[in-house]
Amino acid sequence: MIVTRIPPSPTGMFHIGSLRTALYDYLLAKHEGGKFFLRIEDTDRERLVEGATENIVESLYWAHIPPDEGVMLDEKGSIAQIGDNGPYVQSERLDIYETYIQQLLDDGKAYYAFDTAEELEEMRNRQRLNKQPPRYDRLTMKNSFTLGEEEAQKRITAGEPYVVRMVVPENQTITFTDLIRGDISVESKEVDEQIIRKSDGFPTYHLAVVVDDNAMGATHVLRGDEWISSTPKHILLYQYFGWEQPIFGHLPVIVNETGKKLSKRHGDVSVFQFKDKGYLPEALVNFVALLGWNPGTEQEVFTLEELIKAFDINKVQKKPAFFDRTKLDWMNQQWIKKIPLEDLTNRCLPYLKEADLADDSTDPAWLQKLVNLQKDRLTVLSEIAENVAFIVNLPDYEADLLTWKKSTLEDAKAKLQGMQPILESIDNWNTQTLNDTLIAWIKEKGYGVGDCLWPLRVALSGQKNSPGPFDIADVLGKEETQKRIEAAIKKI
Ligand code: GLU
Repeated sequence: MIVTRIPPSPTGMFHIGSLRTALYDYLLAKHEGGKFFLRIEDTDRERLVEGATENIVESLYWAHIPPDEGVMLDEKGSIAQIGDNGPYVQSERLDIYETYIQQLLDDGKAYYAFDTAEELEEMRNRQRLNKQPPRYDRLTMKNSFTLGEEEAQKRITAGEPYVVRMVVPENQTITFTDLIRGDISVESKEVDEQIIRKSDGFPTYHLAVVVDDNAMGATHVLRGDEWISSTPKHILLYQYFGWEQPIFGHLPVIVNETGKKLSKRHGDVSVFQFKDKGYLPEALVNFVALLGWNPGTEQEVFTLEELIKAFDINKVQKKPAFFDRTKLDWMNQQWIKKIPLEDLTNRCLPYLKEADLADDSTDPAWLQKLVNLQKDRLTVLSEIAENVAFIVNLPDYEADLLTWKKSTLEDAKAKLQGMQPILESIDNWNTQTLNDTLIAWIKEKGYGVGDCLWPLRVALSGQKNSPGPFDIADVLGKEETQKRIEAAIKKI
């Protein structure tokens, strides 16, 4: 069975890059009837951000790609660790890592090192001067090899700070086949003798990720291609432990319009920023799925089920994927049009409430009409409040706005007055009847359509641009419609 994993570090809000990795993990697993788990990689204690774990979990549920196992929500909606391979939070697995670190030490695949920050800095300067690659120089530094095992143990017993580093063999070619980049080989002399246990007792990412991916049964490791240079280290660790290595796939970087890696410094990147603005999860997921992958057809709008069916990890591109915000907006508009009105209305409600345009007692049928009035003009849901505000509170406007083209204010007044009794006579108040009745009246009188409907629309909306007058009148109801017409007449 295919088992994929998303192992974010809780160092900030869950961002678009992680969402794409998680989505590809999810699609790859679901395409094959496999499973997908979430692990929290919190070994870098200095970079922990409060609330980040919650945000990671909530983002995945919001996007409708919840994990099957690991850190997830229980039936009560609280964060829990669920599954047979836990704990799924690395800081709760320290004793497991200790066992494996000890095993590597015993096997001569790891060693103690005692170098201070200054000594390491000197080493790097020396390497720079000699034009050597930056790499831990085991032969000249302070470690089990140069000091001897006995001295190393003595220093540890005396409480001297130390780290554990992994051994990298001298002349080995490390090869693997990347799902996206194909065959990769790296000479071991280019691989650093990475720290695997820090002086604070925590393992580093490199050790923990290997131990955990093995223990949790990950068959595929998808991650951003900034990790590709770490993979040879991981492969060595798999070899040292005698474990079967997973299949690796390094996903292309996501760039902005200037070709730079997407980052906080250049606008929104966290999933919840997009959520709060009113991007639909369906749209964001659809858009993110296409950041580096496409099915090779013209289709662009996909439901999650369609994505699961169509997704093919072998078709993911190597070249950077462009985060095109205009396309995201377009995608959101497609989805706003695609989802049922009732659903859309429920999703708009928080924005309407926040702007005091609706509350819990507002008639749901009326709210649907309100949302329907503007839904074709929405790019993001947060715009709904501004777009419908004129329905709840008529904005102040200049009388001149009531005149259509070359017509006059007097004429606008006459037309509005003429419409008053016609509107009053309508019992079945809805867009269609309003349209039929008023158009028939205009024809019968031989008036120009614009001469009548322009002042009517302005009287009802107070705006130069708005939806059509019949739709607005329908939402306003007869009484409010007549009130606004009366107010317009008074203005003239
Ligand atoms: N904790 C790493 C990250 O946040 C995981 C990388 C990996 O998938 O191996 O990017």
